[in-house]
Amino acid sequence: MEKALQLYEGKAKKVFATADPKLCIVSYKDDATAFNGEKKGTIMGKGIINNRLTNRIMSLLEKEGVPTHFVRELNDRETLVKKVEIVPLEVIVRNISAGSFAKRFGVDEGIVFNSPTIEFSYKNDELGDPLMNSYHALALGLATEDEINTIVKYAFKVNNFLKAYMLEHGIELVDFKLEFGKLSDGTIVLADEISPDTCRLWDVKTHEKLDKDRFRRDLGGVEDAYQEVMRRLIGDVK
Ligand code: ADP
Ligand code: UDP
Repeated sequence: MEKALQLYEGKAKKVFATADPKLCIVSYKDDATAFNGEKKGTIMGKGIINNRLTNRIMSLLEKEGVPTHFVRELNDRETLVKKVEIVPLEVIVRNISAGSFAKRFGVDEGIVFNSPTIEFSYKNDELGDPLMNSYHALALGLATEDEINTIVKYAFKVNNFLKAYMLEHGIELVDFKLEFGKLSDGTIVLADEISPDTCRLWDVKTHEKLDKDRFRRDLGGVEDAYQEVMRRLIGDVK
């Protein structure tokens, strides 16, 4: 499948049209941003790792009954996906306190929750992705009640699967962000990516951070952390 017109260039990926209007190609970059684009940098090899990890995880999720946009990996950085209309909500699931949760509620990082939490933020860079509840999303017509219920059901299903999968590989799944989209017939599918850019991943024994927080917080060893996740989950590092 050939790339046609570039439809969009985001902070971490480019999206291209294809000859088939129902399909597009995502191309993963090494560019990294944090704090709503204020901090910029490069994480060498990140695009390859995030492409491969996302595709592996989405293939496994399909088998668990979570429909995704994944069609086929084309090469190291590019994947053919079903084109969706993105529901403009960032869906965040948390198992352990960290990041904006710890800050907002004035608690330490690392509190293991009795049960996972879910929250939405409005996917809008100009507004800095503000926190939003489902009534706000309904009021603004961003999604219907049925769509929100489906999204919540899938998000917890992803958490149940991913938490166990990560643990098998010595990784604690702290929190993560998902995006969902609608196919032309209205079906909700998981879209975008699942990677160390969009998840907080801690080594189960040492609690060492193996994710984008190493970049956000200038902890060093960023590339090594991404490669370590790749090595543990897939095994081959290029
Ligand atoms: P951002 O837009 O936040 O800078 P990226 O650099 O990751 O993020 O850009 C990828 C864009 O592609 C995102 O806006 C994402 O919502 C969108 N996207 C992800 N999967 C699909 C898909 N299957 N069809 C259409 N758009 C998608
Ligand atoms: N996240 C993301 N994109 C965003 C915001 C958050 O992928 O635009 C992920 C982030 O990597 C973490 C989880 O969502 O795994 C929760 O992030 P949080 O709300 O704590 O925000 P942050 O501390 O990243 O600002």
